[in-house]
This record gives sequence, C-alpha cells and structure tokens, in this order.
Amino acid sequence: MEFQAQTFAQKVRHYLITTMGRTADEANLEEFYRAFCTSLREEIMINWTATMHTFIKQKSRMLYYLSMEYMPGRLFGNNITNVSAVDLIKRVLQILGRDFSTLISMEPDIGIGNGGLGRLASCFMDSLATLQYPAFGYGMRYHYGIFEQELMCGVQVERPDCWLLNQNPWEFRRDTHAVNVRFGGNPIERKNSHNETVYDLLDYDEVRALPYDLPIIGYSHDPNFSVLTLRLWSTKESPRNFQLQRYNAGEIGQASENTSLTDVLYPNDNHEAGKRIRLKQEFLLVSASLQDIIRHYREKHDTFNEFPDKVRIQINDTHPALVIPELMRILTQENDLSFMQAWNITRTCCGYTNHTVLKEALEEWNAARMSELLPRQFRLIEHLNGQFCSEIRTKFPGDEARVRQMSIIEGGQVRMANLAIYGSHKVNGVARLHTEILKSSLFKNFYELDTDKFVNVTNGVTQRRWLLYCNPKLAHFVEKRIGNGWITDFSQFRKIGDFAADPESQQEFLCIKKENKLRFLDMIRKDMQERHGTTEEFMQHHILGAEAIYDVQIKRIHEYKRQLMKALHLLMLYHEVKDNPQTHRVKRFAIFGGKAAPGYKVAKNIIRLIYCLARKINHDPATAHQMKVFYVENYNVSKAEVIIPAADLSEQISTAGMEASGTGNMKFSINGALTICTDDGANVEMRESVTDEWWPFLFGASADENIEMKKKHNYNPLDIYASKKPIKRAIDALIDGSLTENDAEVEALSNVHQSLLEGPPGIIADRFFVLNDLMSYYETQKRVEELYTNPSKWAEYAIHNMAGMAPFSADVSIDNYAKKIWGLEHCPPDLDELHRVREEYSKHDRCRVIPNDQ
Ligand SMILES: *Cc1c(COP(=O)(O)O)cnc(C)c1O
Repeated sequence: MEFQAQTFAQKVRHYLITTMGRTADEANLEEFYRAFCTSLREEIMINWTATMHTFIKQKSRMLYYLSMEYMPGRLFGNNITNVSAVDLIKRVLQILGRDFSTLISMEPDIGIGNGGLGRLASCFMDSLATLQYPAFGYGMRYHYGIFEQELMCGVQVERPDCWLLNQNPWEFRRDTHAVNVRFGGNPIERKNSHNETVYDLLDYDEVRALPYDLPIIGYSHDPNFSVLTLRLWSTKESPRNFQLQRYNAGEIGQASENTSLTDVLYPNDNHEAGKRIRLKQEFLLVSASLQDIIRHYREKHDTFNEFPDKVRIQINDTHPALVIPELMRILTQENDLSFMQAWNITRTCCGYTNHTVLKEALEEWNAARMSELLPRQFRLIEHLNGQFCSEIRTKFPGDEARVRQMSIIEGGQVRMANLAIYGSHKVNGVARLHTEILKSSLFKNFYELDTDKFVNVTNGVTQRRWLLYCNPKLAHFVEKRIGNGWITDFSQFRKIGDFAADPESQQEFLCIKKENKLRFLDMIRKDMQERHGTTEEFMQHHILGAEAIYDVQIKRIHEYKRQLMKALHLLMLYHEVKDNPQTHRVKRFAIFGGKAAPGYKVAKNIIRLIYCLARKINHDPATAHQMKVFYVENYNVSKAEVIIPAADLSEQISTAGMEASGTGNMKFSINGALTICTDDGANVEMRESVTDEWWPFLFGASADENIEMKKKHNYNPLDIYASKKPIKRAIDALIDGSLTENDAEVEALSNVHQSLLEGPPGIIADRFFVLNDLMSYYETQKRVEELYTNPSKWAEYAIHNMAGMAPFSADVSIDNYAKKIWGLEHCPPDLDELHRVREEYSKHDRCRVIPNDQ
C-alpha cells in the first residue's frame, strides 16, 4: 500500500501543476480537493469506459431509469468507500499533510431532489452499479438544487443552493451527446405508410439539451468493478437557447425561458404545483433521454424489431410519464411503424413506480396548456385515451361511471397516473401495504381491468452509504462479528442478531452509540457557529449530553408525517415534568430536521411551533436538565449521515395508510435505533422481519381504521380534546400566550390550533388524525423511557432491530425489479475489454512531448 500511496500523492502533485499551476504546499483547500478528485477519477475512468463498451458489445437488455430527482449527497467519501480505498486515501493525505474530514467538507452536498423519492433513485443507482446490472440513469442538472434552509427566529428562510459554484470534478460535459427538444409549434397532418395519421411540426421552439455525466461506482473488493452513468440534462450552456428575436422584441423574460429551463428544482414534496415550466422540464427529460436511448440502441440495430427485447424504461413516479406518448410519436412519425406495433413496443418497454396515495400529489395537467406546449404528444394521448375507453367499455359494458374514473383526460385535465398505468406493462407500489392500497382503493378500477399488471417492490437503502460509510464504528462492530459479506449480500446481516444477548456486544454497541452522539454534537456546534456565530454557552442551553435519549424525527415537513404530533407530545411531557419534576427519570433530547415547501404555510407554522417550544423548554430552569428540543437546520444527506448514527429513537409516526414506504425508517434501524411508529408503509414489513417481540413501540390506528373513519366521516377531534385532560392542556397552550412572544407567533400557533379543532374553511378538522393517535403515542413514549433505563436490554433490542433489516437493502429491491419487472441479467465488465482499456491507458506514461532534462 505504501508504494501505491506515494504514487497517488505524486499524481495529486501532478494535477495541481498541470491543471492549476500550483504546487502542493501553496494550493488552497478547494484546489487541493479538485486535484485530489481528479487523480481518483482517473482510476475509475478505465472501468467506466470498459463498462460502457461491454454494454454495447454484448447487446444486453438495458434498463433506463428516468427520474426528475436524485439526492446523491457527497460523492468523494462514498466513492473511496466503494473502491475500498479509505485507508489508502487517508495515508495519501498524511503524506501530503492534509486533513481528511476538512477535505470531505469541501464538497457540496448534491441535492437535486426533494426527499425520499430522489434519495431512493440514488440508492438504486448504487445498487445497480454494485450488482453489475446494465443500466443508465437519466435526470436533470438543476443549477439550483433544493434550497438551503435557514431558520430566522423560527421562520424558514430559503436561500439558493449553489452547488455548482466551483467546478464539479465528478461531472463530465458531453457535447457530442447534446440533443434538441421541441416545444409548441403547429402540427401538420400527414399519413404514414400504414395510412394512419401522424403529425410533422412547423414553427416550433427548439431547445438544446446538453448532458453532464456523473460516474456511479459499484462497490467491489476486486479491481473489476462496474461504473454506471447518471446522465443529467442542462439547457444552461447552449447559447442558441437564448431567443434573440424575442429579446429584440422586448420580451426579455421569454427570451431566456429556454436557457433557464433547468435552473431550479421545484421544491415540492408530495405536492404538485401544475406550473408551465415544470411541464417543460418534464418533457425535456423525456425527449432528451429517449433520443439518447434510441441512439444507443441504433449503434447495434438497424430496425426496431429487437427494441422491446433490449430496452426497459422505468418511470420514477409520473413525472416522466410523457415517455409514453413521446415514444409512440418517435416510432410512428419518425420511424414509420404502425400504431399497433408502436403501442406493443411502448407497453412492453415501460414500467411505472407509484410513490403516493395523497390526492394533492397526483399529477394533473391542464389539457389546453399541454396541447399548446406539446401539441403532437397531446394528440397522441387523446388517441390513446379513445382506445383505452373503448377497451374499458368492452370489458364493462354500460359502466360509464367507470370509464369516467379511468379516463386519462377528464374535465379538461390530463391525469398522468392514468396515462402511466395504461402505457406500462407493470405498475409497482413501494411497500406491501402501499401496493395493497393501490389495488383496493386508489387504482381499484385499473386493478380490476388487469390484475397481473400490479406488483410490489418494497423500497430499500444502500448499506454501503448508510452503514459502511456513515457509521464506520458500527460497521467495524459488525465486521468483527460476522465478517464483511453483508456489504454486498445484506441477507448475511441477520447473523448480527446472534450477538444481541451477548453482554460484551451490548456494551460495545452502547459505547459506539455514545461516540456517535458526540460526533453529532460536534457537527451541530460547528454548524451553529458557522450559521449564527453561536457561542458554547448558548449551545449549553440547547443540547443534552450522550446520556440522554436522542429522539429524532428528520424528514420533509408534511402534515401527514405528523411532526405536529411529536411537538404536542413534547408539550405534554413539559407540562408533566413541570408539575412533578421528581417522577421523571429519562432525559430526552428531541431532535427535528426537515425542509418545508416554500409555499406550504401549515408546514412552516409547524416549524415555528417547534421553535417556540424549544425556546420555552430549553430556557425553563425547571425542565432544562430533563429535556431539550433542537431543530437541525438544512437537513440533507450529509446531515443525515451524522444524525442517524447518533439516534436512539426513530420517529416514524405518519397517519397510517399515507406514507407509501419511507426509507428513513430503514436507515435508522440499520444504525441501531429503535423505532416508535404507526403500522404504515414499510414499517409493517420491518416489524414482521424484526418480529413483534423485538418491535415494542408500535401504536395508533391502523390504515384500515383510518380509511374507514374517512369513509364514514365519524372522526371528531373535539371529543378527544374534551375528554383527555393532558391533550386539552397541550392544545390550550397553543393559544394561551405561554409559548409566544410576538404577534406573528400568535398567529402561527393559533392557525395550528385551528387546524386541529376546526379545520380551515371547507376542510375537516385534524385531517391527519393527530389527536386520535396522540394518547396512545403518549403511552408508548412512557414505555420507551422505561426500556431506556435498562441500557443493556435496550442494546439487545437495538441489535435485533439491526438484524431484522437484512431484507431492506436497495440491492434486494433492485433484484426484485430485475426479476419481476425488467427481466434484466447481470452484465459485469468484459475482462478483455477491461484489459484493453487498461493497456491503452498505461501507455500514456511513456509519452513526453518535451523530453525530461537529463
Ligand atoms: C432518507 C432521506 C429522506 C427520506 O426520509 P423519510 O423519513 O423516508 O421521509 C429524505 N431526505 C433525506 C436527506 C434522506 O436521506
């Protein structure tokens, strides 16, 4: 290793001189980071090139994963983990006199997604690469990712996320693969050779989409690892996108519309805004990616005969569902296939993953708007809808109500989920309960039309990032006991359960948890210092040491996720401790984190409530040593990597039936937290895997009960408010002035109060059944405290919970997709190809334009 380390250090010096004109001792951190990554990058380029050659050479069936969002986080640390070079890199840094953690913190956190959906896409890319499947990821290179959140006196302020400020050493601009995408225009009718109507286009707007590639490095112990491509489209760097004619006509905003198309990510999680630019973004992804897919196919094929065998396209949520009409158009209009042939191909190739049952999150587009922006695609959707409706009428004669429910276009709106289901050969939910709800409720009609179309693939997370990389101490704990096979075969993780009752393992586990808590405290100290210039004295008022239970809820702020329930519980606890300081045994450090969509007022009020609560509780001398509340600003992947290993208790308390899967829940368990939860999403399967015996903190109404309650309209939060004293007291505190210090706070908290007891005008009170579950949540939290007073017992539970996570690796999810949906085979890099590329690469060292002075 020493020789390797010295060579690598030399390479870094080389890049500093050749690309920046700096020597190693004078380079600043940013330059050093860039040279370092460039050297590392060189190592993986060989495998990347060979992997890509292999796909073409072997003509494998390819998976193309289309997603409007990804959340890769930082790449450097994960990349060296995946090529098993962490120790080597640490040694190199030692040689060069630089600090590892400082270097890592140089890198921006890539957050070109909102939350779980984008993070899932990134976990899937990691698994596809590690399992060596032939795959390609497509997405958008938003110039500004998810906003940076700052809290100013409890008010969320959104700042732009400038992740591209410095040159990103991991991305490759691919000018040769730029494509044009067309919007608007006048469709001109023509017949194709099958005497079917197709449309050419005149007077359209054309936008150039330029791809930037990120390498996705598969984990491997040996040097023959795969590297996949995440291809992100941008319209920014194409001068032709600026419409000079419009600029000259004084329409400055419109002139730059196409240049700025990929500027910002829409910051809505589980909510659709229906904005025009968003529709243009979605079509850009679809059209550019399809052109790229077809170009790739054409490299080895002259006809489309083999296309349905070679191509699989997975649509991550409905956002890229326009692939269905666009592929139809390309086949019928550009390539003269018949509608029947094109439809068979389209349906065979496409699969759709549903991520939500929330009505407000289901995508619909105004038909007139779509028709104006995408006239040909809209006509095709109309055509497909006519065909679809007659299929329904054939199977269910006379059932016009059913036709209206299933129709793709209804009431002047295009329903993207209906389009996605009709155009796909498989539709999947993301956890068993979620898929069942799709079949029995949201898409019941579709299920009755075609039962085989619906399958479940439960989500997972990559154990490489979410244990091996983010929690090295616990990873080592596992490795010492069961070896390292779990890194690529997570079913082996089960074996850690054999050590749950072992006192020595329990002690070591608790020790590691403590160290991780200190690491977390360190992070928030630094973060607060940087953001607000906070002093250590101030911090002492807001944190509790490692002996306290770290009770964590980190996720997007959304009413259905019920951060409000946890806030009310803390209020109840606060009242209780204040009344009777003696009875309280367990110190509790309640940690929140998460962004609210900028336009989501209720969510912002909830953040404000948590802020008011923290201020009250943290400064009250009667409770100050018993409980503290802390809001971690700007929750993102990098923060999650530090918070999750430090957590004792994972809060997964959504209204049962509403969280499709959740993946945060899995990350916590893998890192040795216990879960307090409703029986929702993947929690159900996690419980079954851990077994009820070791899953002690389940509470609340079931999904069935909630659906029943909604149907019968028989839920009344006022009954609970009136009959449960501690709940009444907590709710009253929202408006009695005890928490607030100014008018704005009074208004925010009274809005929260109103949403619980009266409901906003036209909407029922407490729509997410917070009060209905609050009492049982409160009782369950009592049991949490009881168990926490017995640390070794707690550790025993925690280790059993870790073991039970064996089925929740993204590797398992990907294998299931490959089997149930894609019919995809592994395709490791061809060894001859690897050899050839290595050979070609290594020759460069012998080339010197200017001979050395000798
Ligand atoms: C895992 C993850 C999520 C998803 O969390 P849920 O609790 O499943 O909603 C969101 N954001 C980030 C940064 C994550 O890492």
